[in-house]
Amino acid sequence: MTLIDGKTVSQALKDRIAAEVKENGYTPGLAVIIVGDDPASRVYVNNKKKACTYCGFYSEEYALPASATQEQLIDLIHTLNTDERIDGILCQLPLPRHIDETAVIAAIAPAKDVDAFSEADVGKVMIGNYTFSPCTPAGVMELLRYYHIDVSGKNAVVIGRSNIVGKPMAMLLLHADATVTLCHSKTANLKEICRNADILVSAVGKIGAVTADMVKEGAVVIDVGINRNADGKLQGDVDFEAVKEKASFITPVPGGVGPMTIAILMQNTLTAYKNNKNIH
Ligand code: NDP
Repeated sequence: MTLIDGKTVSQALKDRIAAEVKENGYTPGLAVIIVGDDPASRVYVNNKKKACTYCGFYSEEYALPASATQEQLIDLIHTLNTDERIDGILCQLPLPRHIDETAVIAAIAPAKDVDAFSEADVGKVMIGNYTFSPCTPAGVMELLRYYHIDVSGKNAVVIGRSNIVGKPMAMLLLHADATVTLCHSKTANLKEICRNADILVSAVGKIGAVTADMVKEGAVVIDVGINRNADGKLQGDVDFEAVKEKASFITPVPGGVGPMTIAILMQNTLTAYKNNKNIH
């Protein structure tokens, strides 16, 4: 069994980005907006700011109170849309319930939508011709590439059908010529379907969602889930100790997919900068 080391792979990607930025004197700018005080969102935002600093990017943070209105948030996005220092705009989700996430994401200028959450970007991912990669699924694909894991012709099973992870993950695997099955909470015979997977990606968000009896001997197991266990520690969806005995490759949580998501965000911001400045 090979442990897939997301820290090393994400570091290599960030190093490549930092070197390109330094050599060319680029100044990509990312604005990160956080609304309210969700502790997990705070950790993600801090990590994104740290990655910006590491890559030599300019970054700004806008922390709005949970009571902020949708109008205030959209006004801020409109201001950032025309700010020349800002190439990418990211609004950390989830937003407080009184704010319509779809309307907020739609307000971000397409050239600055580095999270690729807008309807247009999601559609482009489906077609396979996109500027900004969906961060978490593209991070998974980068891990597979780094470890020379062949995807073409393989049976890939994705558990979870969210717009930001499951669906785009299925699309990227499909573009890489896997035969993809997309599962969800209403899937019948989940265990049997998973047992047929050469590549199994779990994006459920529940501890123990993937147990050893769902995994084929020699399968590649990618755990996107980020959960807190009873001790408050981070834990994935996969029963890691048992599944690692059967898998050929497996990602740990933390240190697997998580760091990749941020590295791809940096890559998207660099792409946005180059496009906005007409650098090719
Ligand atoms: P969502 O809650 O939006 O989606 C979860 C999906 O899992 C749904 O499609 C749901 O099905 C499905 N599901 C729930 N229970 C079961 C079950 N028992 N069997 C099969 N399918 C089930 O979550 P996200 O996609 O946003 O995130 C998934 C996980 O990934 C979370 O733990 C999140 O924290 C993590 N995450 C990690 C990232 C990273 O960087 N590593 C980035 C983003 C997310 P249905 O549609 O039928 O309800």
